[in-house]
Amino acid sequence: MAEWQERAACKGHPEAWIFDATIRDDPAVWLRAGHICAKCPVSTECAEWAQTEREYDGIAAGWVWRPRADGKSMKWTPCVPL
Ligand code: SF4
Repeated sequence: MAEWQERAACKGHPEAWIFDATIRDDPAVWLRAGHICAKCPVSTECAEWAQTEREYDGIAAGWVWRPRADGKSMKWTPCVPL
C-alpha cells in the first residue's frame, strides 16, 4: 500500500472501494463514497494513481469506473451527480 493510501478518507470503510470492483454496480455505495472522497486529503494522489494503474477497478477521487451503456468499453462516472 502506498503512503498516501494510509491517509485516505476511505481507509477502514467496509467497502474498501478504492480497490474493489464489486461496488461499481451499487449506486448507494457510490453516493456514500462520493461524499467521503469530497473530504479526502489525498484525492489528487488517488486520481493520478487511478489514471495510471492499468489494473485499477473501483472508485477514485469521487468517480467510479463503469461500463458504458453499450457494455463494450468503460468510462469514469461521478459518484455524486454533478
Ligand atoms: S479520493 Fe476517495 S477513493 Fe481516493 S483515497 Fe480518497 S476517499 Fe479513497
